Amino acid sequence: MKELQERIMRDGKVLSESVLKVDSFLNHQVDPQLTMNIGQTFAELFKDEGITKVLTIEASGIHFAMATAFALGVPFIYAKKKKAITLSEEVYAAPVHSFTRQETYQISVSRQYLSAEDRVLIVDDFLATGAALIGLTQIIKESGAHTVGIGAVIEKSFQEGRGLLEQTGIRIESLARIKSMSVNHMEFIEPATS
Ligand code: 5GP
Repeated sequence: MKELQERIMRDGKVLSESVLKVDSFLNHQVDPQLTMNIGQTFAELFKDEGITKVLTIEASGIHFAMATAFALGVPFIYAKKKKAITLSEEVYAAPVHSFTRQETYQISVSRQYLSAEDRVLIVDDFLATGAALIGLTQIIKESGAHTVGIGAVIEKSFQEGRGLLEQTGIRIESLARIKSMSVNHMEFIEPATS
């Protein structure tokens, strides 16, 4: 997505060879027009898939899931994060290890909101190690629903997430794929779709 790539080049800050800060327009202060355009782009890419729900994880995926679900005309769900590993009968749950924070937390979704009839699109801000997205695919699997695909706003292609998820056969669409980055340099995997 050209608009997104240009914005990352302009306003993104590379903190290290693996961490990109996009706080000024994506995940702290948020540009609503760009967010809606991102949602529209995901909706366009997955429009023929019969999606019934969009699933993300709190907090930084919520506005992208909202924009995508709005464009598709379906509800969205955000998985909740909890530190305590107390399993409840009423939720689907999966553990997720955060490599940035070096901790494992649990994500959960109420059983009320996902069922075997659902066709689910997962949306999140970053595809990095893939841990968060793999956790979401496990929740969908547990519910009996079908994972139609994954929409990642930014993919750090030099990390292992895409490779791990590709092994599961799930379709992945990332709107900006970063091949490599450093303080003075950023390279995308082309093409930037529209
Ligand atoms: P994972 O490693 O599970 O693919 O990514 C987990 C979460 O960490 C992402 O959803 C995102 O919120 C955060 N994250 C991973 N890499 C980055 C990064 O380079 N910059 C920022 N701002 N967040 C990141």
